[in-house]
Amino acid sequence: MSVEVAGDVFDHHAGWVDKLGGETLTPYQGGDHLAMTFREPVGVVAAILPWNAPFLLFAQKIAPALATGCTVVLKPSEYCTFSVLRMVELLVEAGVPAGVLNVVTGPGDPTGERLITHPDVDKVSFTGSRAVGGRIVEASASTMKRVSLELGGKSPAVVFEDAADVGLAAATTIGAVTLGLSGQACVANTRALVHRSVYDEFIAAAQGVAGMVSYGDPFDPAVMSAPLINGKQLDRVLGYIEKGTAEGARLVTGGERLDGDYANGNFVAPTIFADVDNSSTLAQEEIFGPVLAVVPFDDEEEAVAMANDTEYGLGASVFSANGARSFRMARRLRAGTVCINGFQIEPHLPFGGFKQSGLGREGGRSSIEAYTELKTVLMPLGDEMM
Ligand code: NAD
Repeated sequence: MSVEVAGDVFDHHAGWVDKLGGETLTPYQGGDHLAMTFREPVGVVAAILPWNAPFLLFAQKIAPALATGCTVVLKPSEYCTFSVLRMVELLVEAGVPAGVLNVVTGPGDPTGERLITHPDVDKVSFTGSRAVGGRIVEASASTMKRVSLELGGKSPAVVFEDAADVGLAAATTIGAVTLGLSGQACVANTRALVHRSVYDEFIAAAQGVAGMVSYGDPFDPAVMSAPLINGKQLDRVLGYIEKGTAEGARLVTGGERLDGDYANGNFVAPTIFADVDNSSTLAQEEIFGPVLAVVPFDDEEEAVAMANDTEYGLGASVFSANGARSFRMARRLRAGTVCINGFQIEPHLPFGGFKQSGLGREGGRSSIEAYTELKTVLMPLGDEMM
């Protein structure tokens, strides 16, 4: 799926190539003047990628950078290099001129550090953790680099008592946290805020779906999910599970490594914690694994307050059959993307975070603007000036 969406991202941004333009404006002080704006490439872009969705994230940076005429030095994650190198090979085969798209491989320090501090880099476009995002902002100060950051999240799914199908809301939520990437997805709704009157129904349905997730050969279409990327991530996820239990949350299902055929892999069973305190570590910190925290609420005001009570603001979903309530919630939630009665992303819509989930947006016009500088040109038209 990620490969198909990556194709859509290239399709969409290719359409901007002949539509980049500025404006011709009426001069404020009157007189015979030309006043115009132009969009120009921002320059040399350092694009730095995480490991979790290499095709899609590659496309989200490279398509708008090439469409706007920038040159790129790309650094894939040290945990996920080969698929990005293959994408670059394909672009070269497709005719991208030598020197336009360049790749350096290596770890964050020194390879990434060299890029984010290099005086010839004009813009850093980064997707990854909040900690490294903060370091990039810091490093940009000395040369005033343009910076775009797509960072982490602790996105809420808010499920009201009037949801048309509580079971479907539960399946959508736990599905995003456990299927495919095993919760290693920035925008997955890893906090479910559920109205107390449908709380038990939601948990039972989510538990049912969690029990169906299958693992195995990633090339087998029947396989539904994946291992965690490495042993470090496995330890991190298991550490959060331990902490959740210590903080008093109720473990409904999962909470351990898979055993049997999977005992030697980095697999964690789909995990659901109920009765989670919204201020606890489990509800506040990004885990990046198959762990859902379920928190009950009693009314809309409380749901809004809890949903927004996080340092993150990447995504949110609202499940309600009441259109006015859904839209009211969409306006009140402090998140870059709000999905009503579902969960999806689109290649041409702005994507990014409020608060500490990022800076700027990727996708469509917002990407194009982020990879360009706006130049104003003024010229008097009187002969005496010539
Ligand atoms: P990470 O921040 O550890 O690493 C991301 C990239 O930054 C890697 O290429 C790494 O080598 C590089 N890096 C590390 N230190 C650096 C430094 N000092 N200077 C320059 N580069 C440096 O993130 P990760 O663990 O690879 O990915 C997981 C994180 O990515 C999660 O927090 C997740 O939420 C986030 N993410 C966000 C989005 C989004 O669109 N908002 C999408 C996917 C992943």
